[in-house]
Amino acid sequence: MILDMFSLKGRVAAVTGANTGLGQGVALALAEAGAKVALVGRSPMDDTLARFKAFGGDGFPVKADLANTAVCRKIIDETVAKYGGLDILVNNAGIIRRGDSIDFTEKDWDDVMNVNLKSLFFLSQAAAKVFIKQGRGGKIINIASLLSYQGGVRVPSYTSAKSGVIGLTRLLANEWAAKGICVNGIAPGYMVTNNTEALRKDPVRYQAILDRIPAGRWGVPADLAGAAVFLASPASDYLQGFTIAVDGGWLGR
Ligand code: NAD
Repeated sequence: MILDMFSLKGRVAAVTGANTGLGQGVALALAEAGAKVALVGRSPMDDTLARFKAFGGDGFPVKADLANTAVCRKIIDETVAKYGGLDILVNNAGIIRRGDSIDFTEKDWDDVMNVNLKSLFFLSQAAAKVFIKQGRGGKIINIASLLSYQGGVRVPSYTSAKSGVIGLTRLLANEWAAKGICVNGIAPGYMVTNNTEALRKDPVRYQAILDRIPAGRWGVPADLAGAAVFLASPASDYLQGFTIAVDGGWLGR
């Protein structure tokens, strides 16, 4: 039956940055669809675990700071040790630094590139090794951005990293599709999370953004749930290297 194709029953997922915002929303969605979820991040997962408990979701925290790629293997190893395998990786953790390009520092460049692009690559590599060894394929979902498609202003490292994310999503799909590994992305629009706090605190910017969103509202983490479950499930087995915008129509405007 078609709805069975969206079920994640018996699957194991790892979601980075699952303590808050979009990562938390995606982790909840995958668990509601039946997956066991490794909740990866540098911050306590108490809030996410409490939300899992509320509906009997199966999740456990994996403490890791993705500023350093040395943790990538450890994250995957801990997940496999706990749940006996891995089927889905969601590369969601990300940071943003704002500043005029003329004065932008090397630290603000490296910090963002390390978390948003370099760790995403090496975590994908570690996951793909497990997928290939298991021989049952796998799903990698990369969280991109509108700035994977647009330039933005005053966010040079973020735009570079997120533009890299959609390129890498295509490349990894090309290399791994024949092994049954689907690599796809989600580009969220303007969502109400910590990432956009500075924008939302500026009433002029907030309203200007709102006025340009065809859907007439900012997004919330639950808006990613459907796309995440779709890309994590057998329903998307022939979808490769594509980044789906969940943006209330922003990019189409
Ligand atoms: P958020 O700040 O609430 O979440 C970011 C998550 O990444 C947090 O869980 C944080 O702990 C984690 N993280 C950051 N640095 C880390 C590190 N070094 N090690 C481990 N975890 C780390 O913001 P969000 O909006 O939920 O962001 C999630 C993703 O969505 C990010 O990749 C962000 O770029 C992307 N995104 C957000 C929006 C938006 O409008 N909010 C739009 C497009 C893309």
